[in-house]
Amino acid sequence: MRELVGSCTVCGKEIYCENGFFDGEQKDGDLYCHECAGLED
Ligand SMILES: [Zn+2]
Repeated sequence: MRELVGSCTVCGKEIYCENGFFDGEQKDGDLYCHECAGLED
């Protein structure tokens, strides 16, 4: 099961929810991929 959740706010990469695992991070309603979330202060 793979469901498109949305796109990374920073780089636009598509973020999926795979088998209940959210492949990214969500902050204040915005979506970020792991790469961009890791670059934040
Ligand atoms: Zn990103």
